[in-house]
Amino acid sequence: MTFAQIHGHDHQKNILRRALAGNRLAHAYLFEGPAGIGKRLMALALVRAIFCREGTGCGSCSSCRKVDHNNHPDLLTIAAEGNSIKIEQIRALQKELAYRPLEAPRKVCLIDGAEKLGASAGNALLKTLEEPSSQALLILLTPLPENLLITIRSRCQRLPFTRLPRTEIERVLREQLSLDEAQGHILAALSEGSFERALGRDRDLYLERRRDLLKALTALSAGSVAPTFDLARSLSEEKERLPDILEIFQAFYRDLLLLQHGSGEEELVNIDLREKLHRVAAREDSASLLRKLDALAGCRRQLARNVNRQLALEVLLLRLAA
Ligand SMILES: [Zn+2]
Repeated sequence: MTFAQIHGHDHQKNILRRALAGNRLAHAYLFEGPAGIGKRLMALALVRAIFCREGTGCGSCSSCRKVDHNNHPDLLTIAAEGNSIKIEQIRALQKELAYRPLEAPRKVCLIDGAEKLGASAGNALLKTLEEPSSQALLILLTPLPENLLITIRSRCQRLPFTRLPRTEIERVLREQLSLDEAQGHILAALSEGSFERALGRDRDLYLERRRDLLKALTALSAGSVAPTFDLARSLSEEKERLPDILEIFQAFYRDLLLLQHGSGEEELVNIDLREKLHRVAAREDSASLLRKLDALAGCRRQLARNVNRQLALEVLLLRLAA
């Protein structure tokens, strides 16, 4: 991955490129922003540009290839073991950093999920940050910078990353996956600004089955308990996909709310179901839509706690049918 291959984040890219070209890289960076939007890719592009034998992040020299295959001796990665990054991991890192780099001009350490630094690990890392070496570069990545020690944050150059605009994700999805306009729009709208999410999506579920699921959902009526329970039973058998299915329901009710508040169709997720949306929006009121969205959020929380799935879905669908 080179800088040029990263979509979006032009501002961050330029800051890093300029620092690199002027030999003014900071000793430590804190890449902060939502998960899955490309912080790690940017960090790896930077590493490649620093390590590359051509000085470009060419992608074909031995250094670039080692970075891509994650076996460059001067690239160290730390991530949580279990729930946290342990002090032993930081101590091992400090030992490594005491040696000269083997092949690259400097050693680089990526600390992925830096918010998981425990208090003692964080304090140990602080020592390294307070005594910077020109032979080492630390890149901390986190979606939750507020969970880091203030002293760690202040010792790093902070680089905030924001979600990518939907139109940018849509453009790339359509290009790379040859999706049509509506498909690209739907996946991009459901990705919440993250390529990782958009590309990892179960396309059949989000593009094709979504319609059947919404058809079944809107066919339920308050008086028809049996079909409601049938649907609850069949959904309860899809344990793995259930969070995604509930997200599809959520996006549907959100679309209805947006329509009622006069938002443009560009804002909608289900643009291939405009007629259905208008029809359903006409017979719902905002208060009831908000109650349904609440019911969905409640059900997702319950399922995350491993409650009886079928029962939770029965209650949910009865609320959604009302
Ligand atoms: Zn190279």
